[in-house]
Amino acid sequence: MRTKFICGNWKMNGSLCETRKLIFQLGTDWEESFDGIEIAICPPFTALNEAKLELEDFKIKLGAQNCYIGNRGAFTGEISASMLSEIGCTYVILGHSERRTIFEERDDLVARKLRSALDAGLKPILCIGETDAERQKGDMEEVLLRQIVGSLASADAADAANITIAYEPVWAIGTGKTATPEQAQEAQAFIRSELRRKFGNLAETIIIQYGGSIKPENAFELFSQPDIDGGLIGAASLSADSFLAIIRAAASVKS
Ligand code: PEP
Repeated sequence: MRTKFICGNWKMNGSLCETRKLIFQLGTDWEESFDGIEIAICPPFTALNEAKLELEDFKIKLGAQNCYIGNRGAFTGEISASMLSEIGCTYVILGHSERRTIFEERDDLVARKLRSALDAGLKPILCIGETDAERQKGDMEEVLLRQIVGSLASADAADAANITIAYEPVWAIGTGKTATPEQAQEAQAFIRSELRRKFGNLAETIIIQYGGSIKPENAFELFSQPDIDGGLIGAASLSADSFLAIIRAAASVKS
């Protein structure tokens, strides 16, 4: 059975003070039933060190929201996977739709970042997902397949255990419009079938999260689907109460 994995993507939110406060609240209201669930938060780069210090006694892992290719060099403004590893990150989100659209990141760049992250000992959370227009045209599977093949081009079976996929339909991110459990399950079963082509039976062990307007009210039903192994949570991860309620939903599916 796959472990449920809940990860908070704070995006460009989180001052040092807010970071301390949020992590303190998560620790204060922690529940024993969360044991056995993988939990991580991905604050902005500037708060990673503060978060690492605050997380010392907690079971929450740390992740970053992006990295660059290569270890060091003349790449003004960029941060390498090895730097993130050194600061204590376990995870790094790659290929998020905001990076694909706003910063025009393509699958070939995402694949190079993925390789760099894996080589630095980080576990990439690879985001894929179709836009509303692509879904309306009936192109969902084609888009997902292109992103899987392109963004995972640099990975092989030896990497499978360290890769998480986040299915994030672009039309559901930050819009309040969540995919129904059936829509998400259908897409995620398709993703797993394509992972099977690439990684064989190891595909059964790969965590596939759903992301897109998860809230405490819809989390349980989503996480109850056979191919939804947790969630990548944006807005709702910025409040301890709602993030904890989502973790609680995952725990109740598990038990
Ligand atoms: C995200 O950006 O990864 C995300 C899922 O955001 P939200 O939960 O706010 O839709």
